[in-house]
Amino acid sequence: MKAMNYRGPFRVRVEEKPMPKILHPEDAIVQVTRACICGSDLHLYHGMVPDTRIGSTFGHEFIGVVREVGTGVTKVKVGDKVLVPFNIACGRCNFCKQGLFANCHESNAMATAVGGIFGYSHIAGGFDGGQAEFVRVPYADVGPTIIPSDMDDEDALLLTDVLPTGYQAAEMGGIKVGDTVVVFGAGPVGIMAARCAWLFGATRVIVIDHLEYRLEFVRQYAACEAYNFRSMDDPVLFIKRITDWLGADVCIDAVGSDACGNAMQTITGKKLLLQAGAATALHWAINAVKKGGIVSVVGVYGPTDNLVPIGNVVNKGITIRANQTSVKRLLPKLMDHVRKGVLSPKDIITHRFALEDIAEAYQMFSAKLDECIKPVLIPST
Ligand code: NAD
Ligand code: ZN
Repeated sequence: MKAMNYRGPFRVRVEEKPMPKILHPEDAIVQVTRACICGSDLHLYHGMVPDTRIGSTFGHEFIGVVREVGTGVTKVKVGDKVLVPFNIACGRCNFCKQGLFANCHESNAMATAVGGIFGYSHIAGGFDGGQAEFVRVPYADVGPTIIPSDMDDEDALLLTDVLPTGYQAAEMGGIKVGDTVVVFGAGPVGIMAARCAWLFGATRVIVIDHLEYRLEFVRQYAACEAYNFRSMDDPVLFIKRITDWLGADVCIDAVGSDACGNAMQTITGKKLLLQAGAATALHWAINAVKKGGIVSVVGVYGPTDNLVPIGNVVNKGITIRANQTSVKRLLPKLMDHVRKGVLSPKDIITHRFALEDIAEAYQMFSAKLDECIKPVLIPST
């Protein structure tokens, strides 16, 4: 079969790989019909995630058709069209039982923090991902969810990660009626977080980024205010100024590691905080939230991004909440929202590529070329 193949930082291509096999009675093999590239894949692509091995296949956002099931699988059968949450979760450990599917204790042999994730290096279990024609799906009775016949495939695709992640970002923020919410990052995740913030009762939603085309998109899509940090002397001061000097009730970090140093190029004199990989958005979030406020972090950070300004966290009495998203926990509610038209995630898809064009797709999404918001790969039809 054809599969995406990682060759080192900024180098990916498609190669022939052996067909995945059922290795355990609870496995299924899924033929992938659509797979996204995620901002999280960019951390791998940029070489920021330890133990990302040459030859591995990325891809944790995918849908497809079940082609084979192990003898222990009872909830899905050959021919079912399924969406597959990005978390690989056993469904029965201490954490899964609490709904913390992202922190499953069994699916990742390292069992340190994160559970298994498709196509996300050996720190997330070393599983191959879905940017391929076929993928092995462990614990097939837990994650894979049948796509209802009245749901668009591409809406289903965005239910595997970015919509639940945006929703969980808003949920972790503990947004209350009347709150002002600031979202850092107008990528797919930040766009979804801004849209979902209204569902929790926010009365003001503000998005910060530096890409004008994304700011314009989020203004329309999420009916929010959106500002360019390159046009500000100091983003924290700017937020204080427009919130009666109180700061935001909730700040959401939907950026994570900034390998390309986007913020660094513009603002001088603060290089320590703004250099690439130095958690710029997280600093801004902590400093721009009001005293007693909540900072919700869904942006993904590597082990070198450890510069949290703990003094401000203590002195302002801030709560920081963070996690990978437990997609399965949120699926019933979000599938309902999508079917009722409350949320329409597929609207953020801007580009579609054949799997063979993977290098171009990664390059475009990484460099934010051609007004790219969310690229989708079509491995098979
Ligand atoms: P993306 O790269 O498309 O978007 C990131 C956006 O942040 C870009 O528009 C960029 O211009 C902007 N940005 C960069 N520096 C900024 C700053 N200092 N302030 C404000 N904006 C800034 O990525 P995405 O797909 O939207 O993902 C965003 C983050 O969410 C990534 O770190 C990704 O790994 C993470 N993520 C987490 C989960 C989870 O389960 N927690 C799931 C999916 C994605
Ligand atoms: Zn993702």
